[in-house]
Amino acid sequence: MNRPYNFSAGPAAMPAEVLQQAATDMLDWQGSGMGVMEMSHRGTEFMSIIAAAEADLRELLSVPSHFRILFMQGGGLAENAIVPLNLSRGGVMDFVVTGSWSQKSFKEAHKYGQPRLVASNETSAHTTLPTPSSWQLSGGARYVHLCSNETIHGVEVHELPDLKALGSDAPLVIDFSSHVASRSVDWSRVGLAFGGAQKNLGPAGLTLVVVREDLLGHALSVCPSAFDYKTVADNGSMYNTPPTYAIYMAGLTFQWLKRQREGSLSGVAAMEQRNMAKAELLYGFIDNSQLYLNKVDKDCRSRMNIPFFLRDETRNDAFLVGAKARGLLQLKGHKSVGGMRASLYNAMPLAGVQALVAYMREFEQKQA
Ligand SMILES: *Cc1c(COP(=O)(O)O)cnc(C)c1O
Repeated sequence: MNRPYNFSAGPAAMPAEVLQQAATDMLDWQGSGMGVMEMSHRGTEFMSIIAAAEADLRELLSVPSHFRILFMQGGGLAENAIVPLNLSRGGVMDFVVTGSWSQKSFKEAHKYGQPRLVASNETSAHTTLPTPSSWQLSGGARYVHLCSNETIHGVEVHELPDLKALGSDAPLVIDFSSHVASRSVDWSRVGLAFGGAQKNLGPAGLTLVVVREDLLGHALSVCPSAFDYKTVADNGSMYNTPPTYAIYMAGLTFQWLKRQREGSLSGVAAMEQRNMAKAELLYGFIDNSQLYLNKVDKDCRSRMNIPFFLRDETRNDAFLVGAKARGLLQLKGHKSVGGMRASLYNAMPLAGVQALVAYMREFEQKQA
């Protein structure tokens, strides 16, 4: 079946093979007589699904053994509270604000401790990244928060900061919701990473947390038990009923990721290669056109979320109508930024970006 190309920022397109497998399994998962939504989370069938999902993810992201993988609920925004509830101990937290998502994280943290703004790119309208050496890090901060890919503004951190080298002992917390599994992660520089699944891993409803073991067990006493990382970890993400179907779908996506190949590369390394080629194609076209414009600094442009503008904004509606007619869906930009946005998550093949560029070229020529 030929499906349109879906550029949604999230919930986002999933690989067709994954959706097809889910359809096959819908009424009867592997001869069990049950669909996955109908299984006890503590039965042997679902236990094997969650164990495989966790093992596959650990392998794909090369998560070291002293990190725990937690499957939670609440999404990225709930983590804006859950992280300070678990890590702040009521003390100082350092925030790097680089766009809408880190701004929200900073604001929410005020309920749980003393967040400090240590760097911001607000004066550039979130189109740059403050270099780590300019961050005004606090002595004794409980953690440093960084959104490693700002989904709305299209700003991505291409090299995680080495906080130790910057004189800070604080663990780095990254919100990697919108680029998880699109590239490798340098875990030696990370204390905790969190992300909602609905951008690049699976359906909404599942939140991934990868946390270094020594950061468990310090939650504030008001922290809900279901959101205490240690409780969740001690119970294998089964303290309460986990989002079973979303975990199953993410698990199918992990198996799909493991099958991906680019030359001699496989898994996330293959995806990273493909994602670079996809982003280069679109940015290269935009930069060389007279009609389209991307405002983000070249060294921090996101590979996943590419906001762009038509220099003649009166043509926005015509652009979107024509795109939809071509089977190029959900290209409208976020309301706070305007213009267009193409999200090129793992499930978007290079052919989808080629189709988008062909349409954009034709639309520009028609208008000229
Ligand atoms: C989408 C997104 C969120 C919010 O996730 P919810 O699941 O809606 O709470 C947080 N951070 C980033 C970077 C995102 O892209």
